[in-house]
Amino acid sequence: MSHPSPIQRRVTRKIRVGSVYVGGDAPITVQTMTNTDTCDVEATVAQIQRCVNAGADIVRVSVPSMDAAEAFGVIRQRVPGVPLVADIHFDHRIALAVAEKGVDCLRINPGNIGSDDKVREVVDCARHHGISMRIGVNAGSLEKDIQKKYREPTGEALLESAMRHIDILDRLNFHEFKVSVKASNVFLTLDAYRLLSKQIDNPLHLGVTEAGVFRSGTVKSAIALGGLLLDGIGDTLRVSLAAEPEEEVKVGFDILKSLGIRSNGINFIACPSCSRQEFDVIRVMQALEARLEDVRLPMDVSVIGCKVNGPGEAKEADIGVVGASPKSLVYRHGEKSHLIPTATLVDEIEKMVRERVAEETARQSRIIVKG
Ligand code: SF4
Repeated sequence: MSHPSPIQRRVTRKIRVGSVYVGGDAPITVQTMTNTDTCDVEATVAQIQRCVNAGADIVRVSVPSMDAAEAFGVIRQRVPGVPLVADIHFDHRIALAVAEKGVDCLRINPGNIGSDDKVREVVDCARHHGISMRIGVNAGSLEKDIQKKYREPTGEALLESAMRHIDILDRLNFHEFKVSVKASNVFLTLDAYRLLSKQIDNPLHLGVTEAGVFRSGTVKSAIALGGLLLDGIGDTLRVSLAAEPEEEVKVGFDILKSLGIRSNGINFIACPSCSRQEFDVIRVMQALEARLEDVRLPMDVSVIGCKVNGPGEAKEADIGVVGASPKSLVYRHGEKSHLIPTATLVDEIEKMVRERVAEETARQSRIIVKG
C-alpha cells in the first residue's frame, strides 16, 4: 500500500556493473565496501556474502597491491554473479590484473594513473572486457593546484577536479563510467553533486565520505543523500559509516524506502509509545525487526500501541495492528480482519508477514508458469 514516489529522476546514461545496470531507468542501487584485508580471502568472501544477504547490489573491494589482486581473483570465483568493484589508486598494473580476473568495475581516477600510455592501456583493457569505471573525487584529497586555487574545498573545486578526470575518459571516447564527488560536509556534498549533475549525463554515485559513527553518520547521510535524491539526483549510493558494511546497506535501503524510491523488505510504521500503550511497543518492534530482517518483499506493516492512532495507520498499511487488551485488532489491506492475542503479538505478526511472502511467491510462480 506504499504511495508512489513523486520524485522526478534526472535522466542519465545507463552503464553496466556486472549483472546490474546503473543509471537510466535502472533502479537506484545500494552498494557498500568490504573492510577486511583483501588478502584474507575467507574473511572477505564471508563479508561479501553478508552484504549480499543484507541486499547489497554491488560490493567494492580495496585492491592496494599485486598480492591483493591475486586474492581478488580467488574472491571473484567464490562469489560468482556478485557485481564487484575494485578500488585502486595510482598503480595501473593492478587495474590490468583485476580486469583479467573478472572485475566488473574499476574505481580509479584516470588523472592519477600517470602517463597517457598507461591511461590508454587501462581504458582499452576496460573496453575489451566490458568493464565500467568510477571516477571518485574526495574533498580531502583534491589536487594541490585546485586546493591552492580555491583555498578550501568547495563545490566548484570538487567539480573542477572531477571534470579533469572526466575529460580524460571523454577524449578516449570511453563513456561507461559513473562519478562521485564526496565530502564529509552535508552542504559541500549537496553543492558538488548539484553542480556536477548540470555538467554531465553519466550516472552519479552518491555518498557522504567519512560520515562518522553509526547514528550521526546515518543522520548526516540521510540528510545529504535524501536532499539529492529529492532533486532527482543519484543513480547508486553508498552510505559510509564506521560500522559493519552490511549496516551501511540497510541504512542505504532505509533512505530509499523513506522516499518511496525502492524497497528492500518491510517498511515498519510504529508509534513512539506512551502511557496509553496496550503492549510494550518498543520491545515488540525490536523483536519484529530482528526476526523479519530476511524478508525482501516490499510491504508496509503498521504496529501501533493503542486506538488513538492505530486505525488510521492500519488502514494505510498492508498489515496493520491496533493495540488493545487482551486482543489486538488486525487490518489487512486497509480492512478490519481479525483479532489476535496481544500477549503473542510478535509471533502473530511474523506469521502474517511470512504468509504474505508465501502467497506472493506462489503468485509469482504462477505468472512464470503461465508466461
Ligand atoms: S498511538 Fe497510542 S500508545 Fe502510541 S503514542 Fe499514540 S497515544 Fe501513545
